[in-house]
Amino acid sequence: MQFSDLGLIPELLKAVAEQGYTAPTPVQAQAIPLILAGRDVMAAAQTGTGKTAAFTLPILQLLKPLANTSTSPARHPVRALILAPTRELAAQVEESVRVYGAHIPLRHAVVYGGVDMDPQMEVLRQGVEILVATPGRLLDHVHQRTVNLSQVAILVLDEADRMLDMGFLPDIRRLLELLPPRRQNLLFSATFSEDIVRLASTFLNNPARVQV
Ligand code: AMP
Repeated sequence: MQFSDLGLIPELLKAVAEQGYTAPTPVQAQAIPLILAGRDVMAAAQTGTGKTAAFTLPILQLLKPLANTSTSPARHPVRALILAPTRELAAQVEESVRVYGAHIPLRHAVVYGGVDMDPQMEVLRQGVEILVATPGRLLDHVHQRTVNLSQVAILVLDEADRMLDMGFLPDIRRLLELLPPRRQNLLFSATFSEDIVRLASTFLNNPARVQV
């Protein structure tokens, strides 16, 4: 299996080649075509399996038609929202968006707690298509009205089991209520506990299951 067998566009094939990746990992081989086809996906994948690229690459491809060089913030609404449990993971995911998106002019940002909100507000004010966030800090921004989630078309819960363990379920539920009902949903989790399956059933639509 090659990356070029997955239906990825040249800009992304170039980026993965630049990373020195020679072949997709199993979670990438399974998830990327499903996500490109617009399916909701629930994937069981641990850290280290290549799960970040498994959702980042197809998101960049799906959003590419919306890339534009306008300087107007209104032309850069949040289209993809990626929620992650910790600041370290959120920063790592944003770094992946940057690296894999090197040849696609989409804007991205990361917001997490424990640091000053002002610089994050400034970045959000300018508009980003792809936002990576920890749930609590994202809600803070919602309350400050520095972020508008009304045009989110793709939602990712990354390491969903850890988010539940850390008590983020109420925040996630609140955020789900702010998103447009018609959207693509992706859930990545190391394990599929009863709680995860229950959460999944509340927001995934006929999800394809990926297990590696
Ligand atoms: P993740 O599971 O997303 O945390 O990724 C684990 C590591 O695997 C990261 O350092 C990636 O850069 C790397 N990686 C992701 N996909 C591939 C691939 N197809 N081939 C080689 N390395 C990869």
